[in-house]
Parts: sequence; structure tokens; C-alpha cells
Amino acid sequence: MGRRLEGKVAIVTGGASNPGLGYATAMMLAAEGARVVVTDIDHTGAEQCVAAICGQGGEAMALVQDVTDGMRWHEVVSETVRAYGQLDVLVNNAGIAILKPFADLTLADFNRQIAVSLTSVFMGCQVAVNQMRSQGTGGSLINISSVAAIKGMARTGAYAAAKGGVQAMSRSIAKDGALDNIRCNTIFPGVIWTNMQSEAIGEDGLETRIPATRVPMARAGEPDDVASAILYLASDESKYVTGAELNIDGGMTA
Ligand code: NAD
Repeated sequence: MGRRLEGKVAIVTGGASNPGLGYATAMMLAAEGARVVVTDIDHTGAEQCVAAICGQGGEAMALVQDVTDGMRWHEVVSETVRAYGQLDVLVNNAGIAILKPFADLTLADFNRQIAVSLTSVFMGCQVAVNQMRSQGTGGSLINISSVAAIKGMARTGAYAAAKGGVQAMSRSIAKDGALDNIRCNTIFPGVIWTNMQSEAIGEDGLETRIPATRVPMARAGEPDDVASAILYLASDESKYVTGAELNIDGGMTA
């Protein structure tokens, strides 16, 4: 157990999936001393993440949350503050990827993708900012976008729109929160091996080799590659960093 997040309280959304970015992040933040609220629509998975955290000597609790439900956002932050006294870090990680050729995307697909991957981030950041302001402590918002927001990719019409929205909104939140030391930074993962990625590619197991034409490092990243960056942004080591955009993609966007 480290000490980089000693005394901090973090919410990580979408923490049930293993391997997944939220699961790895919750584990790493807790291993560095944060008390972590792991939320997901998948309660069993969230409880498994909490059990793993407690098993390594950390402190965490699981809450069922559909991130598209605005009222639930208020409850999740209230329950966090009731249990742990404050909120210092929010990691907006939960997500889905509706991947279809542009002509086949329905309006329902588009609206669903925006609700889960963009409107949720709006609601989560807003309720967190209000809580952090009332505490007067500042805080760190970390939003997970995607290289799909930066680079054109086939079949990502709705997904890229949502993730591009996360990028633009995060810059604005960074400016609005700066005087209150409420920082907002964005992470852009490339191909990281998780359950979402294995579904997208349609294969089970760890695919390590990827053509260098797609990923210059010719391999997928590991969830901990992303979690390590989130740990830095959650900690006071990044206290002068806001509005930053960090690509974790093996060189895809270089
Ligand atoms: P994952 O599918 O492994 O995990 C996503 C988690 O989000 C799951 O536990 C799922 O139950 C949860 N979730 C889905 N809808 C939800 C909702 N409405 N409310 C609450 N929870 C919900 O995915 P992952 O690969 O770990 O992705 C995590 C984030 O990283 C996503 O925002 C994704 O878009 C982004 N991302 C991933 C990659 C990658 O290569 N894995 C690349 C770029 C961006």
C-alpha cells in the first residue's frame, strides 16, 4: 500500500468490469490510500471489485448506479459524503461503445451513446463540482474520452461524437473550476485490453499483437497503463494540471 492518495475520497464509475479500466483504477487508487466508491449498473461486479480492494487492505464500498440517471448522481455523491465525509476525486469511466457503419446507426443508438458517454459526464461533473465547492477543498475530475475523439475511425460515428463532447466539455469545466482548485483533465485511451475491447474486436483473451500500422507500439495497452495516469491526476502531484489531455495509446495519435 502506498500513500499518494492518503485522506482522499474517490468515486469511480463503471468499476465492475474485469479486465476493465474502472476496475483497475479503483484498485490502484485504493492501493494508494484513497477510500473508493465503486459504482456500476452491474452490482455483483462492483462488489467483486470492492472485495478485491478490501482483500489488499484498502477501503471501498459498492453502489449500484446507472450513470444516465440524474437523480441517482445526487444520491451517489450524498451517500459518498455520508460514508466518507467528503468527495475529492471523480473518475467518469463508465461507458458503452455502439459501433456500426455510419449509415446503420439509428437515432436511438445515437441518443443512447450520448446519454451513457456524454450526458452522464455532464451530470456527474456538475454534482461533483457543487459538492467540492461547498467543501472548499478543490478536487479532481478525470474524464475518460477516447482516441476516437481525435482520429477519424470507421464505425465510431456516435461513440466519437460523445467522446469529442467529453473532450470539449472538460476543457470548459477546467476553466470554470480553476479559481476553486477544481481541476478537470481528460484521458484518451487507445487500444487497451478490457472486456469492451474484446467485445469490439470479437475475440476472447489477451490480444497482445496489433499491426504497427494501427498502433505504433504494435501491442494493446494494459488497464494499469491508464490507471497509473488517473492516479497521477487524482493526486496532489498534479495540483497545477488542469484542462490537460493525455493520450495513452502506444503512439496511435502521434
Ligand atoms: P468495459 O466494458 O470493460 O467496462 C465498462 C463498465 O461500464 C462496465 O462495468 C459496465 O457495466 C459499465 N457501464 C456501462 N453502462 C453503464 C451505465 N449506464 N451506468 C453505469 N455503468 C455502466 O469498458 P472499458 O474498456 O474498461 O472502458 C472504460 C472507459 O474507457 C469507457 O468510457 C470507454 O469508452 C473508454 N475507452 C476504452 C478503451 C479501450 O480500449 N478499452 C479505449 C478508449 C476509451
